[in-house]
Amino acid sequence: MQHLAKIPFPEVERLARAGKALVILPVGVVEEHGAHLPLGVDSFAAEAYATATAPHLEEQGYDVIVAPTINYGVAHQALNFAGTLTLQAETLKSLVVDIGRSLAKHGFNRLVILNGHRDLDHMRTLDAARSVLVDEKISQVLCTGFTSDPAVTGACYREGVKQFYRSPRPDREGHGGESETSVALHCFPDLVRKELIEQLEPNFDYDVEAFRNETEDYGTLSGGRGYFGWPRAASAETGKQLVLTRGRNIAQFILNAWGGL
Ligand SMILES: [Zn+2]
Repeated sequence: MQHLAKIPFPEVERLARAGKALVILPVGVVEEHGAHLPLGVDSFAAEAYATATAPHLEEQGYDVIVAPTINYGVAHQALNFAGTLTLQAETLKSLVVDIGRSLAKHGFNRLVILNGHRDLDHMRTLDAARSVLVDEKISQVLCTGFTSDPAVTGACYREGVKQFYRSPRPDREGHGGESETSVALHCFPDLVRKELIEQLEPNFDYDVEAFRNETEDYGTLSGGRGYFGWPRAASAETGKQLVLTRGRNIAQFILNAWGGL
């Protein structure tokens, strides 16, 4: 696995000439995730999943290149919390399309968008960017991670992970809860306010439909807490298993679509 921003151009040329390159573009956001987690959770998680996905693709003959993360996204749900930033959908779409076009110009025509941020507008926008690139016939593009197709999101994130959860209400775990806190404790523990986690009460009694359909904002839905579920159920070990499993899942999804080389 190579990071595009960390290698010089002759190596990029060699990778393009070899014809086996597959570029993963992690996409996240700057958004509140409760008082215990940093605003970059979704970006950092997307990067962790990219790293966990790569070896499975390399086993099948691909040269995996990870492009610099898009750290900004569309985030309407948490805008009332300090620090949450949002792009207009058109801005995000242009960013992804411009990156895809540039990659294709250099001979990289397999692009995997790996999105770590669940927001309906955000996910639809990534789909729209994918459509532009596919219609231009310059690259094959897949949307993975959180996507507007619940079946794809399920295949990437939910397959095989239930066994690792310890929350008494796994059906109520969501944004900033057991899953994201676990991934944070495993991948970027120094950025987690661990002393706060102990004090966080479960947030199980929220309007799940309004959460899923984004008909109410996170502040209203969570009574100002900004998390859904029970962060105290999280552990670094769970996070490790979630990242490994999801890396395998995402690779499998890509291989199902494109096959090996
Ligand atoms: Zn998140």
